[in-house]
Order: sequence, then C-alpha cells, then structure tokens
Amino acid sequence: NEKVSRNFIQNIIDKDLAEGKYDKIVTRFPPEPNGYLHIGHAKSILLNAGLAKEYGGDFHLRFDDTNPMKEKSEFVESIMEDVKWVCGDLDLEKVFYASDYFDKMYEYAVLLIKKGKAFVCDLSPDEIREYRGTLKEPGKNSPYRDRTIEENLDLFERMRAGEFEDGSKVLRAKIDMSSPNINMRDPIIYRVARMHHHNTGDKWCIYPMYDFAHPIEDAIEGVTHSICTLEFEDHRPLYDWVVREIGFEKPPKQIEFAKLYLTNVVTGKRYIKKLVEDGIVDGWDDPRLVSIAALRRRGFTPESIRMFMELSGVSKAQSSSDYAMLEYCIREDLKMKRPRMMAVLDPVKLVITNYPENEIEYLDVSNNQENEAMGTRKVPFGKVLYIDRSDFMIEPPKKYFRLYPGNEVRLMNAYFVTCTDYITDEDGKVTEVHCTYDPETKSGSGFTGRKVKGTIHWVCAETAQKAEVRLYENIVDEEKGVYNEDGSINVNPNSLTVLKECYIEPALAEAEPMESFQFVRQGYFTVDSRDSGKDHLVFNRIVSMKSSYRP
Ligand code: ATP
Ligand code: MG
Ligand code: MG
Repeated sequence: NEKVSRNFIQNIIDKDLAEGKYDKIVTRFPPEPNGYLHIGHAKSILLNAGLAKEYGGDFHLRFDDTNPMKEKSEFVESIMEDVKWVCGDLDLEKVFYASDYFDKMYEYAVLLIKKGKAFVCDLSPDEIREYRGTLKEPGKNSPYRDRTIEENLDLFERMRAGEFEDGSKVLRAKIDMSSPNINMRDPIIYRVARMHHHNTGDKWCIYPMYDFAHPIEDAIEGVTHSICTLEFEDHRPLYDWVVREIGFEKPPKQIEFAKLYLTNVVTGKRYIKKLVEDGIVDGWDDPRLVSIAALRRRGFTPESIRMFMELSGVSKAQSSSDYAMLEYCIREDLKMKRPRMMAVLDPVKLVITNYPENEIEYLDVSNNQENEAMGTRKVPFGKVLYIDRSDFMIEPPKKYFRLYPGNEVRLMNAYFVTCTDYITDEDGKVTEVHCTYDPETKSGSGFTGRKVKGTIHWVCAETAQKAEVRLYENIVDEEKGVYNEDGSINVNPNSLTVLKECYIEPALAEAEPMESFQFVRQGYFTVDSRDSGKDHLVFNRIVSMKSSYRP
C-alpha cells in the first residue's frame, strides 16, 4: 500500500528519534496574521499537526506577528477558526504569539553584540543593498562593521530608546560578506520602525527581522522540526547560525518541502487579496476562492481536504495538483453521508393529464440508495410537477432518451410517463409539457412489463419550495492560464451563475446553513452560510456529479 510509505520528513524524524536527538517532537504552524489562510496553508497545518499526532508530540499554532506593518488582529480570529476547522479534533488551548518573545529577542541580540557577532550599521538601505554584492560578486564590509562592542551596545540601547529616526540605523549579524549565500552577508536582524503593534502596543520602536526572529521563536518553544516551504532553503544556514550563536541546547532543525500548487487556481495570499480588492469576488470567503473560509462556505468538508492532502503527498519536488482531485475527494466524502434529494434548477411545468385533480400522494423514497442506513423519506407527488427544462425537447437529437412527444420515461422514484403534448408561448418557449402516467409502473411495485431508457427527476409543484442556486466555475479562464503577461489574473466572466427560480423538495425547506445534500443528477450542494435564510434559501453547488479525475 503506497499510502503507508513514509515521506521524507517522517524518515528524518525517525532517524532523529532513533539517534536520541530529541525525546519528543514539537512542530508548529506559524502564520503571519496578515490575511486569511488558503488551501496551501491547510497542507502545512495538516502536515505539522499530523506529525505531532503520529509521534505523540506537540503541535503549536504560533502567530508570527513580528511585522506590525501588515498585521491585524482581525486575522488572528479567522486563522484560529480555520486551523480548528481543518484539524477537526485539535485542542488549541495553547496558542503562541511571536511578539510575546520580543524581550527575549532583544536580549539575544544584546548577547550577539557582546560576543562580537552583531553590529549597529548606519548605511542607508540603498547603500546596504549596494554593499551586499551579487551572486557573482562578493559583498563589501560595512564601514561600521568594526565598531567596538561597547559602542554597539550603547547604540543598540539607544535605538530601542527611540533616539534614532526610522530606517536610520539597523543591527546586523556579523557573518561573512563574501559568503556565496547572500543571506549570510551580514543580514539585518533589527530595524528601527515606529509602528503600533496589535499585541505590544507602542512598547517597541525596533522590530526583529524574520530570519532572526523565526529560529528564536522555534527554539524558545522547544520546536524540534521546523517545517517550512522551499523558498526558505537558502535561509537555513542563517537559521542554524542564529540558534548556534545564541547557544540553544537542543536547537530546532529546519526542513523544507514543496508548496502545494493547484493547476489553474489562484492560491497565493497576494493574488486572492487582489481579487477581493478589485471586487471580482465578494470577499475572502467567496465560494470561488480557495481560502479556507471560502472552501468551507462552498461546502467542502475537513475530511475532504485531509483526503486531498493525503493524495497529493509531501515532497521536495515542486509540482502542481489538479483541482479535479479535490473535487473527487469531496464527492467521495459526501457520497455515503448525504441524502440524495430532488431539485429542479431550470424548471418547466409537467402536467399529468390523467392524474386526479387536487390529489397529493406521498411516495417512499430512499435517502441514499448506496447507504440504506440513512432511511427513507416521504416525497409528495401530484398532477403538476416541475422538471428540468433540459429534460424535454420538441425535436430530440439522436440518443436523447429523455422526454419528447411520444416518448416514455421514468419519473425517478415515481411512475412512467409518456409525453402527449406541450404548450409554448409566443416566442416558442416551452411553458408546459403534458404527459399521461401509468399507475402500474409505480416505483417499488416490482413492475417489469416494459423498460424505458430515460429517468428524470422532478418536484411536485404544489408543495415545492423555491430556492436560489449558485453554480460556480473556475474564477480563472483556464484556456488562457492563470496570469497574463503583465501579472494580472485572467478572469473568467462566467464563474458565477445565479439561478433564482429553482424548486426543491419541501423536506429541504428546513435545511440549515452549511448542511449539504446531493441533488440527484446535478451534484452536491450546501446551504450558503452567509446569504441563506428561512424565507430565502440559497444553495451553493460544491461540485457537479461529473468527474474528470480517475484515482
Ligand atoms: P502566501 O505565499 O500565500 O502569501 P505565506 O507563506 O506568506 O502565504 P504565511 O502566513 O507566512 O503565509 O505562512 C504560514 C505557513 O504556511 C508557512 O510555514 C508557509 O510556508 C506555509 N505555506 C504557505 N503557502 C503554502 C503552500 N502553498 N503550501 C504549503 N505550505 C504553505
Ligand atoms: Mg509569509
Ligand atoms: Mg507571502
């Protein structure tokens, strides 16, 4: 079984535990609270939480809130909710904030200065860039590199006290300006910036840089395996330098894996943000997006997301997964769990001319033919029904087995009907289809007299509930790919179809937000959590029945 084969991270952990490097593993998910989480983050959450669970270790949710410029506490709430939802059974009593370690980080910076491993630099940002050199060319030492320890301690203290303008001085690690790795060329570890912080308020006017802060956060929390995405591979030597120079006893180890990408789907936080800001979608939880809030609102389940992550695997090689695989996962998850109901999205009336007037009969219908444990329900049937407009044609093409004049079909869960006539309006649009039914053909009666090729669904007009149904397509025009040459997104103008006059079984009237159902022949649908109400039901299509993915 391929599923039980170990990924490369499990192999590393197995080895570390076998060699006694750590007794217990600690992993973390460190989002920056600067936006909503998306499906890529779900991969990181499930990977880290999953490893902690598998090895009996701990998993920390840590807000990496060291850059007040972009961060907002509004996002802390949404991230917490999303992480809990993705993980299911996670106990999140312990939530960590990197900003709680600002005092420690300051102390460690002082320690580096005392060891002669950090210095205050007065070069301007442009000069620093210039001195840094290029991939082909080594950098040059800053003229401030040889300041004495005393001078550095004094200047850094005064940076903290607010004596210097924003951007006028930085603290830099003293490593190696000729290193082939540019990250090691005396990187900046602290900057002066007067910014209000959501957690520490105005206490600080200096803030640590990510490459200095992150390893310290991990080490303070006793993280053993700090799992991040490939773009940090080049930063690992600096990560190791920081934990070594500060002298942490059991330093954490950084491990990189490839980001999750979905073919033709907009995943990056930056791009999702742009779609929201440009008003192309109606917020971060628009069901066409792949933010976690949007996937939830669309009707994806945590189980389907987890199955998807299992299938897509963990690797160091960059690749792109297919959205069709995610659709396969949600169908698989809902198939046996959700009732199969009838809903007519594009209605036309069907009148059964030989059925008694004013009579409603209640048919026994199985809730899920593949899962008898889900029981049955009563579905009303009467003289006037709604059927889907596409299930009737005046002049059918070859191989059309649904209704047309003279043809007999099965009304799902009910009777055979034969089309006898139809009515059109002045534009030629069909307004009613007329049929006769054969009482002997009642579903469940064991009738075997003759067979029909087509089965169509329907809803009894008198008892039907009206509903709005929203159908979605990719927000991106797949023919053209995700991005234009100028970096803008190729928006699909037909990504949303709103059907205002749909008719659903009365049993669906009680559906609660987030509840989901199969609408037979049409896919899986969920009650929209934002716009649906008792007197105005709104359903989102999660996924159609058709699959283009083969497991
Ligand atoms: P984005 O690139 O979409 O802006 P980010 O990396 O800036 O996301 P963070 O809040 O910094 O977002 O990320 C938190 C964690 O999620 C990091 O460890 C990051 O590596 C991980 N992560 C982000 N995107 C993906 C992805 N597509 N696949 C797997 N992990 C991801
Ligand atoms: Mg980031
Ligand atoms: Mg980013």
